[in-house]
Amino acid sequence: MSRFFSSKYSSLIPYTPGEQPKDMEYVKLNTNESPYKPSENVYEAVKKEAEKLHLYSDPEAKIITEKIAKRYGVSPDMVLVTNGSDEVLNFAFMAYGDSQREMLFPEISYGFYTVFADLNVVKYRQVPLKNDFSIDVNDYIAKNTTIVIANPNAPTGLALSRNQIEEIVKSNPNNVVVIDEAYVDFGAESCVDLVHKYENLLVTMTFSKSRSMAGARIGFGIGSKAIINDLNTIKYSTNPYNVNRISQVAGACAIDDDKYYMDNCKKIMESREYTKIELEKMGFMVLNSSANFLFAKSDKISGEELYLKLKENGVLVRHFKAEKIKDFNRITIGTKEQMDIFLKKTKEILEAVK
Ligand code: PMP
Repeated sequence: MSRFFSSKYSSLIPYTPGEQPKDMEYVKLNTNESPYKPSENVYEAVKKEAEKLHLYSDPEAKIITEKIAKRYGVSPDMVLVTNGSDEVLNFAFMAYGDSQREMLFPEISYGFYTVFADLNVVKYRQVPLKNDFSIDVNDYIAKNTTIVIANPNAPTGLALSRNQIEEIVKSNPNNVVVIDEAYVDFGAESCVDLVHKYENLLVTMTFSKSRSMAGARIGFGIGSKAIINDLNTIKYSTNPYNVNRISQVAGACAIDDDKYYMDNCKKIMESREYTKIELEKMGFMVLNSSANFLFAKSDKISGEELYLKLKENGVLVRHFKAEKIKDFNRITIGTKEQMDIFLKKTKEILEAVK
């Protein structure tokens, strides 16, 4: 830290993204990216758009916003497109966080929530999960404060039903409830249609997982016009050209090619169930994931040792050091071939520690 750094950030602990080592070619199952490439149309559109890079991007991101609106059955003024869903989440913490009342989110969830809260001087309380790692809906009923829930949750992969989400949203009418649906396309129920019924609901989604575009950094929020208006106030006060030209066209094309991406999600879900069964055969305890990853632990080897041994063998998974989940690893679902390599290496490692 330099001596010039503002004291308001002196104790800020930044988010640690998953490692991206370059020392060798890994089977990369650590950052929940899609193993599938973007659709063909995206390449053509991106190439064409590159000729216009001397011009600013459309601050309203009109074309992609309209396509997202149509896809999700809302009007364009109920959509805000951002630079990854991390950005819309940060905007929500800025807009609805409070330094007096505690914002609520699960103790085990997306690690960026605490960082957004600290960055924006938002008071928060992390609510413990149940022993089976699921979220107890009762902990969020009538709390009279801003609530953030990832559904499916990360890194557990466990999802609440649309009805359970509705109970939470309905019981907190004077506060915003943010539902982070980054992984919803892998088998969970979306609550996005509830934005027509509840003006306090903000749903965030991303192109990084189900739409194979983590590198394009496209996310979006869907909510009532009033909520989107608030978030636009924050956007136009920080970075009006927040989504670059290339990403805007890439994202618009991806919405046109929806079937391609949703078919890929089905393949990923099939590989997920296959991998789960194979891990269970090896004695792993595997949570029931509705996301593009599995969260699994073995009583034969510690989470950290398995992670390190897999890395030595060219397979990257994600290990978290937090006490309550340190026995687990989060394994992104890749192609069937990648999962077979992961399973083979895991089997060999387990046999060697017997
Ligand atoms: N929410 C959750 C639960 C996530 O795991 C991630 C990805 N790390 C994000 C949001 C943000 O993803 P992106 O900024 O790539 O849209």
